[in-house]
Amino acid sequence: MSYEGSCHCGKVAFSVEGEAPEQAIACNCSHCRRKGFLLSFVPAAQFTLLRGADRLKTYLFNKHAIEHRFCTECGTQPFAMGKMPDGSAMAAINLRCVEAIDLDALELQKVDGASF
Ligand SMILES: [Zn+2]
Repeated sequence: MSYEGSCHCGKVAFSVEGEAPEQAIACNCSHCRRKGFLLSFVPAAQFTLLRGADRLKTYLFNKHAIEHRFCTECGTQPFAMGKMPDGSAMAAINLRCVEAIDLDALELQKVDGASF
């Protein structure tokens, strides 16, 4: 099983090994609230960039711990790369960029990122 996602213009596309998630993280931090992310965290090894490496730019802020990757053509941020609390590499998937997922069916896990 795997699922695929893309930026809006389609220059950037990715696939993720595994079942499409039924839950998403909705965070209220200064960054997430502006971009409206619905996120799913997966081990980086399950993530494959299918195309668009040359179109991606990285946005860093705060502790620069997470590489927020966005398409320089359309501005969409389909994913970010970072580390889990245990230090292992992870990818944060913006589920809004995965067309196969019914966003209204996702069970939201609210994270109060604004407070930490
Ligand atoms: Zn794009």
